[in-house]
Amino acid sequence: MAAAVEPHRDCPLCPRLHGFIAEWRAREPGWHNAPVPSFLPLQGEDAVRLLVVGLAPGLRGANRTGRPFTGDYAGDLLYSTLKRFGFARGEFQARPDDGLELVETAITNAVRCVPPENKPVGAEIATCRQFLVPTIDRFPRLEAIVTLGAIAHQSTVRALGQRVAALPFRHGARHAVGGITLFPSYHCSRYNTNTGRLTEAMFVDVFSAVRETLG
Ligand code: URA
Repeated sequence: MAAAVEPHRDCPLCPRLHGFIAEWRAREPGWHNAPVPSFLPLQGEDAVRLLVVGLAPGLRGANRTGRPFTGDYAGDLLYSTLKRFGFARGEFQARPDDGLELVETAITNAVRCVPPENKPVGAEIATCRQFLVPTIDRFPRLEAIVTLGAIAHQSTVRALGQRVAALPFRHGARHAVGGITLFPSYHCSRYNTNTGRLTEAMFVDVFSAVRETLG
């Protein structure tokens, strides 16, 4: 049987994350409060040439709305940049029913469940890789992966069966793995943009390079 690409709604594999979600289900029963599935273009997985790998759902963002990067600051910068380079179209209104569409692009997270303090631990990142591996494999036309932050980058490198030391995280680098080019970027979190670690121009440059590569 093919490996599952998405954890089921009550995935118990990471007890700490399972417990954290259970707490939030009790506190906010109207929220998604479950593993957040990958966001795909309407044309489906066969159309995907670019995959964006984030860290994990934000508590009041994707964990609330059920769509990656939807409902928190990181999504504002990510979706506006995707739109700018034609990887998304429509209006992003931070709601899963806003009609925003991805174009030849999919978005997923290295860890599918919201972690306390936005910090998954090593075992959770390793456990959730069993979903990242078949997620990468499901796209037959995949040519580029943007990894947001060191954790997403390293988990993606491992998911591709490569050594992290050989393909290190460095903002703006490019690494070729088979027919795929990896584009590591600092995560587009509010913290990183507030501290100046990532400027909008730096983020735009990453996606400009992706567009150049994909044509
Ligand atoms: N929202 C996500 O879905 N992933 C992140 O990495 C950050 C915010």
